[in-house]
This record gives sequence, structure tokens and C-alpha cells, in this order.
Amino acid sequence: MGYTDGFIVNKPYKLYKLENYFKGINLNDQYVYRKNLIDDLIDHFDSTMSINNNANDEEFGAYLSKVEKKLNLEVENWRAFSDYTKKNINEVKNLVSKRIYANNREAFINLFDESKVISVDTKKIKRFGNILDTDGDKKEYHLNESGEGIFTELAKIKPFNDEDLINFSKKFGLPTGKIVNRGNETIEFLSCPTFHIHLNLVEFQFIFKIYVAICTNDTDLIKSIYLNLNSQFKGESEYRLDNLNKGAMLAQLKYDITIYLNNVLANRHEKVFNYNSLTDNFVETEKIHDLFHYAYIQLRHSLIAKSQIKKCMYCGNYFELQHGKQRFCPPLPFRKRSSCEMAYNREKNK
Ligand SMILES: [Zn+2]
Repeated sequence: MGYTDGFIVNKPYKLYKLENYFKGINLNDQYVYRKNLIDDLIDHFDSTMSINNNANDEEFGAYLSKVEKKLNLEVENWRAFSDYTKKNINEVKNLVSKRIYANNREAFINLFDESKVISVDTKKIKRFGNILDTDGDKKEYHLNESGEGIFTELAKIKPFNDEDLINFSKKFGLPTGKIVNRGNETIEFLSCPTFHIHLNLVEFQFIFKIYVAICTNDTDLIKSIYLNLNSQFKGESEYRLDNLNKGAMLAQLKYDITIYLNNVLANRHEKVFNYNSLTDNFVETEKIHDLFHYAYIQLRHSLIAKSQIKKCMYCGNYFELQHGKQRFCPPLPFRKRSSCEMAYNREKNK
């Protein structure tokens, strides 16, 4: 089965304060287009973050409940989130877990006083009629050909670290966000609230960690994830015994990862049946929604194929082994050779 093909990388991506972001969109189009574009973007941010004034308390509460669930996946997440918002950890915990009380919505938005939108340079955003588009420096790569490293690269971004996010986006494009409407075959993301991406990262990396434990059979890692999961689900599930037998723990994690992957993929599945007149073939493709979607599919494939993973000799992060001799992370899009391998050789020859 094939996948949606092209993915666009823009240059450059910048961080904006939410309030400046909309002011910065300075289009030469007629005023009405500019206004529509901005309305469209505001709608996107509101629905992504569930913070618009039309969302009722129940919807906002449901959103905070999702936020809390994701942050609860690892203890470190709360620390990272509190650092990110420059607020005291108890304050942010209270705000998220208390859900609904007067002015919570404003208080929640006020957590993000600093730059919290990652976007294509606002000068390059334009609109034709109902279609959003961007100008300028951009390139397209194909997920089937150059997307090999997406899931292991997403695992390298520190959640709530915008610098890491910018670096990733320079190479692969924005992982998710407000889509530029250019048909089914090519995906381009214009912008996204950084918080939304970081929450996605927290969830992805939690599942990735289980994947690493399964692939490496690392006893300490298996045990620590197992105990973390047991403490999270205490009381919710009777089958979770405190059984510290390694085989039993590993089997449990293997079962768990299918549940997590089925959950995250359930909302994203969309198969399209098409006729390709160029090749005279009928094809079934899975429509890719964003890079997280693609990364979860890669994880699933890798588990089915029982792939091996290995630590890169240069950066020390895991990559999926394609052939026995591979020692470095795979090449990035638009590159023939591994950047880690080249950096390693440069340092060795110094
Ligand atoms: Zn590497």
C-alpha cells in the first residue's frame, strides 16, 4: 500500500508571539482576503487549542482532561511544561487539573505569554480566494523515499524545546498544523501552536520508549516503563499484577503498545482507492494526515517486521537498522549521505 506522497519543507520557520503573529501577516492581497486568512488561522488555533469563546465549558474541560492525560504519561513532562510556561509547577498542575472554574480559560491562555506559534515567515503567507498558499523558498520530498528517519528523528526532539522543534522542521517541515490546501498528494503545513506539537511529542515519545524497550529487550527500561504504567492504571485495571518477571512484563508491554498504537491511529485512518492513468493501475493509498501519523505507521511496520534498532555512533540516538553494516542515522531528505556519518568523519579527521 502506498501513502500520500509529497511533503513540503519551507524556509525559514519562525517563532511568533500569538498576538504578533496575526499582526505580522502583511499581505498585498486585498483587505478581504487578508481578513479571511486571519479568520481562518484564528479558527485553526482556537479549535486546536479549544480556547475560543464559543467552546463551552464542557468542551474546554474535555480538552484540559486530554492535556492532563498526556502530561501524566511521564513525571518529567510536568517539569518541562512548567519551565516552558515559566510558571510554578503546582500552579500549572492546578490550572490543568481543576478544569473549570471562573476565568480558567484566560488563565490557561496566559500561561503562554511568550512566542508560541511556529510558522512559515508571515511575509510569505498568501491567499488566493479560498486557498491558502505560501511564497518563496520551499522544497518537496517524498515520504516513501526520504521519510525513513521520521519516527526516529521525532524521538530526538525534546518536548517543550522550541529550538529542537525548529531544527527538526528545517529538515522535515512542520510535523503538524494548519494545512495549506494543495490537493491530496502533497502536504504543506503553514503554522501551529507550539504547545499542540509538544503535546503530540509527549505522547509519541512515550510510545516510542515502549517500542525501544521491546526492540532492545533492556531489563531496566522494561521494568521502569512497566512500573510507571502500573502506577498510572492502579485501580483501573485488575489484570495488572505486580509481577516483576521479565518475560511477563515484556509481554504486557507488547500488548500495551498495540493498544496505544491502535488508539492513536484510529482517528487517523483514511484509505483512498484510486485509478492512476499514468501507470494504468488501481491503487489503494493511505492518506497521511501529518508526520505523527506517518511516524506511528512506521512504528507499527517496524514491530511487525521485527526490525532491529541500534544507537547511532555519532549522536547516540536509536535508528532502525536497514542493513547489517549501518552505524549512523539514515540520510535526511534532500541528502544522499547520513549527516551523522559526515559529522562523525569530520570530527575524526580533525
Ligand atoms: Zn545519529
